[in-house]
Amino acid sequence: MSDNDFIILDEEEKKEHGDGEPGKEESRELTAAGEGKKEEDDGGYEKICFICHRPESVAGKMIDLPNNITVCSDCMQKSFDAMTSGAVDLNRLMNMPGVQFLNMSDLENMQPKQQKIKKKKEKPREFHQLDVKNIPAPHKIKARLDEYVVGQEYAKKAMSVAVYNHYKRVATDTMDDIEIEKSNMLMIGPTGCGKTYLVKTLARLLDVPLAITDATSLTEAGYIGDDIESVVSKLLAAADNDVERAEQGIIFIDEIDKIAKKHNTNQRDVSGESVQQGMLKLLEGSEVEVPVGANSKNAMVPLTTVNTKNILFICGGAFPDLEDIIRERLQKKTSMGFNAELKDKFDHDRELLSKVTVEDLRKFGMIPEFLGRLPIIFTLKGLDKDMLVKILKEPKNAILKQYQKLLALDEVRLEFDDDALEAIAEKAMEKDTGARALRAIIEEFMLDIMYEIPKDDSIGEVTITRAYIEGTGGPVIRLRGQAVPQLG
Ligand code: ADP
Repeated sequence: MSDNDFIILDEEEKKEHGDGEPGKEESRELTAAGEGKKEEDDGGYEKICFICHRPESVAGKMIDLPNNITVCSDCMQKSFDAMTSGAVDLNRLMNMPGVQFLNMSDLENMQPKQQKIKKKKEKPREFHQLDVKNIPAPHKIKARLDEYVVGQEYAKKAMSVAVYNHYKRVATDTMDDIEIEKSNMLMIGPTGCGKTYLVKTLARLLDVPLAITDATSLTEAGYIGDDIESVVSKLLAAADNDVERAEQGIIFIDEIDKIAKKHNTNQRDVSGESVQQGMLKLLEGSEVEVPVGANSKNAMVPLTTVNTKNILFICGGAFPDLEDIIRERLQKKTSMGFNAELKDKFDHDRELLSKVTVEDLRKFGMIPEFLGRLPIIFTLKGLDKDMLVKILKEPKNAILKQYQKLLALDEVRLEFDDDALEAIAEKAMEKDTGARALRAIIEEFMLDIMYEIPKDDSIGEVTITRAYIEGTGGPVIRLRGQAVPQLG
């Protein structure tokens, strides 16, 4: 495997490599009216019957007619039957005034342009399409995650190894009796610490489809809410209805702690334990019938089968009160015998969450069968002030860099005092929603800057200060042509 496997390709290189962008070549040929070529270049898309509109996977093999019209054999048969059943005397009919027979060449004018589902314009891809046989080594995956995600070292490491093993398993498809276990994961960490962001970044780096669902919206089939299999349907949509690609994708189920078994309830638990039960098969690997291009099954939409065997499931949740359960367990252990320690030893332990065990999660309300299907369990840390400052400025697409780029387009330099960054982080800490608060805070004070600066062409540089963030002063503004002190 070369280093090239995982690097950004520019457009030139892409053409040379002829990598995963079949759409481009195709569309050029299609518009050149190269009709003979159309059939081979369908990019894996299905033909649809001109008469009954069913796709090939449902209606069976299509019969190709001139002008790129395809008809399923059922409809073709029905047409023949109608003509040859004797009920209609073709000779008489043809001589009847006002009766016209369908002339194939007329179809050219009424030829449906959209007999195939029109493809979206492909976005330029940042990375090579995932080649499961050539998965980048875990340290390379982690190095790429490092560019975007601040801190959370353990989580990044655990995830890189799990993903590496998962796709190795997909590639080998277990040739012998040693079946490699699926690497489904469970991420535990407070809100806004980067769980969703990690998964999103990972899917983008690997260029695999990703579906994100909230466990709270799921209910047992038949009850109000999305049924569990709808997550697979979402993944299929994310994979542009390409079943093969969807079968190698990632499904992220957020807020998984919300489907914990409800204690002390006499009612049927349709959105808690039942959802966990319902997910067991999916996590392990099963064939699921999902509607194509819709999120509910009904008579109008075609169905297709997706196998979840190679789909990587990642569950995430904040698990409030889990710390209490861990603390209680640890205190019980240490308060007995010779090793008895102070009872409040764990009260201020910031690493408490990372000491979680499967037993604690069971106590929280997750059923053992469910936990058994998520063999990789790891925790993420709550973000402290330093991490928040780093998140502001360090990642490749850091929020400050985004604003700097926007103003640079107006030829204005935007700088932030270190003190100002700390003030932003302090404000974010108060909100207790992790890094999520950062954007809201910045947007609030950047609104004035983004509104006022373009008004005045003479402004060359703006420096955001702590006083400005705290509302006790304004930003420092330098006009063009003024001596600019060396910054940074
Ligand atoms: P949650 O853990 O609740 O899923 P998110 O992943 O949605 O939190 O985080 C919200 C936003 O905060 C992300 O979109 C990302 O921009 C930012 N963020 C959170 N944690 C980090 C991190 N460790 N590094 C970089 N950005 C982060």
